[in-house]
Amino acid sequence: MSRVNTVLGPIPTEELGFVAVHEHIGYGMPGSELDSVWWRTPEERYAATVPKLRRFHENGGGTFVDVTGICNGRDVDHYRSLSAKTGVHIVACTGFVGGDTALPHFARAGVEYLTEQFVHEITVGIGDTGSLAGVIKVGVSRGGRMTELDKRIYRAAARAALRTGVPILTHLAIDAENAIAIFNEEGLPLHRVLFGHVDDGVNAEKTRDLWIAEQGGRVGFDTFGYETELPDPPFWARPRKERLDHFLRFIDKHLDAALASADANCSPLGWPGVEGHTVNYLFDDLIPDLRDAGVAEATITTIFVDNPAGFLTITKD
Ligand SMILES: [Zn+2]
Repeated sequence: MSRVNTVLGPIPTEELGFVAVHEHIGYGMPGSELDSVWWRTPEERYAATVPKLRRFHENGGGTFVDVTGICNGRDVDHYRSLSAKTGVHIVACTGFVGGDTALPHFARAGVEYLTEQFVHEITVGIGDTGSLAGVIKVGVSRGGRMTELDKRIYRAAARAALRTGVPILTHLAIDAENAIAIFNEEGLPLHRVLFGHVDDGVNAEKTRDLWIAEQGGRVGFDTFGYETELPDPPFWARPRKERLDHFLRFIDKHLDAALASADANCSPLGWPGVEGHTVNYLFDDLIPDLRDAGVAEATITTIFVDNPAGFLTITKD
């Protein structure tokens, strides 16, 4: 049976439904839980998060992939209760957003140690929660090039993906040549990797999204909704139409490699977040925009149901 690990246990792939593939229940930098200005009580976090997940479910959302990673506020017990109360499947990840958010304990670790850590979280559990990670997060540190630590984490992720069959999802798709070289050296098929954030306002110009797809990688247009039209846009915002046109050009050529998401925080940790942006952007804005542009319903199903199912299904080639 094909299956995917969720925080409440493995489920058959067919039960995933509509998937938001790159999201956050709450993301913060390491140590933000000690921030006395921004830290929220459990009650505040539930109050901010539950209505968003309920509406996601009412809109037809089936699965929410939380790609928060180790050291960035990942809280699997919280996810378990949210999933049980709202009926939304939540997939948690192992791995790191980038080398620059790994705390020193992990930053000093070798490839073997990191591999064992990822494999443990996928096959035994995350901490003492008993929940298995369903994806591996890796990323490029701030600065635009992969650091030596980033490369160590990518290599460990590739080995863990090969051993467990769980896929890899990246924060940033810049410097993809170095990433793909590591995956090729380790023998990991590139359809097991989703190169994320190809559409963000900072990196879209220098990301080689078509080239990544030609190599066999999957491509994530996953910062939909971070628009310059927002009242207080973040620095990675981009004009709505420019992003949409970029996506339409991509799916015209490589629909089977395309995934989309909103990278929103239900309840950000240690920072104010971006007002007015939630996972429900996918239903409220993106899908209507796609329909207005003449995109067929079958294509929308490919992007949000079929492609994530193929990506998330535990696969040993
Ligand atoms: Zn993210």
